[in-house]
Amino acid sequence: MEDLFRFADDFGPARIIHIYRPSVALKAIVVVDNTACGAAVGGVRMAPDVSVEECFRLARAMTWKNAAAGLPHGGGKSVIFGDPRMSPAEKEQLIRAFADAIRDIADYIPGPDMGTDERCMAWIKDETGRAVGLPSVVGGIPLDEIGATGFGLAACVDVAREFIGLDLKGARVAVQGFGVVGKHAARFLAEKGAVLVAASDTSGTLADPSGLDVGALIALKEAGRSLREHDKGSKLAADAILDIDCDIWIPAARPDVVRGDNVARLRTRLMPQGANIPCTPEAEQALHERGVLVVPDFIANAGGVICASMEYRGSTQRAAFDYIDERIRANTRAVLQESRRDKKLPRAAAVALAERQVRGAMQMRRWR
Ligand code: NAD
Repeated sequence: MEDLFRFADDFGPARIIHIYRPSVALKAIVVVDNTACGAAVGGVRMAPDVSVEECFRLARAMTWKNAAAGLPHGGGKSVIFGDPRMSPAEKEQLIRAFADAIRDIADYIPGPDMGTDERCMAWIKDETGRAVGLPSVVGGIPLDEIGATGFGLAACVDVAREFIGLDLKGARVAVQGFGVVGKHAARFLAEKGAVLVAASDTSGTLADPSGLDVGALIALKEAGRSLREHDKGSKLAADAILDIDCDIWIPAARPDVVRGDNVARLRTRLMPQGANIPCTPEAEQALHERGVLVVPDFIANAGGVICASMEYRGSTQRAAFDYIDERIRANTRAVLQESRRDKKLPRAAAVALAERQVRGAMQMRRWR
């Protein structure tokens, strides 16, 4: 019994739901963490190796992210066990079965995450009437296509760089995970004069200290090919991205990629976290002690959820980008200032900011 409630604290999780449909081999978990600010918004992740703990930690990150972003939403998350590269027909069946199973979890609004996309959200909306991150044909702002999260990361970097005296012109960027978040972050930073010196995907790391052509790499990925297939730069192992000498190192792949056992390999000055929970607490502490400025995930990568929330309320792409820019800049500055002033980790300052928001909302609710 105690074990079932091992994550319980002052904020949640309100519910952890296990879903099993043997007829379609559906195994999924939904965590609705805290709904004081409103219905929980959080992505649907599909991967073969997800866990309840990962799902809870991601849901909690959404509670903080939505609250810090000032959105009228709580935090939630779901995971579906499966290989996202299954056939489109199988995927549609699995996603529709998942949608049917969450039909009555009305305070959970699904969005896209690793292994799911706008199309999956359209199927969920079709089944249940609620989802965010939809394709434009069904009224969505295509947040992955326009790079809402990458845009927000670039805004975050533009503020954080002031705290370490870094000029974006010529700043060297390394991106781990050249997917939706990573490639758009690279694109928006390149527009500000930064130089992409390395990028990685599951096939390996591509590096060139004199700079990679971001547009060419994006075209390569969008043609369904891997970074290794690019004809320039040196081809290294996937984890060699950790050793790249750079100014800005952007994790944009999986959780816990930087840990106590490999954190010493990083040679960077700034880490805006594109991926959710890319560092273990131990690694984040070690980076702080070495003077590497870390902007925590839920502050730096909130662009996507801000866009999704504005889509849900019928707003436009332009208004969403304006709000992302304004909010992420303000939050990055507030968190880094509080961190400096009170000599605490940026994550501690960020959690304090979000906690104040959530506690305030909880005070307004009947069941506090
Ligand atoms: P994605 O699937 O589009 O891209 C992930 C990329 O990471 C792929 O290119 C994949 O090849 C690569 N990758 C996976 N494992 C890797 C490894 N071990 N080494 C190097 N590369 C690896 O996913 P995404 O939407 O870009 O999301 C990436 C991360 O950002 C996730 O943690 C997600 O939760 C987080 N995030 C995404 C959004 C969004 O708007 N999509 C918003 C906030 C946070």
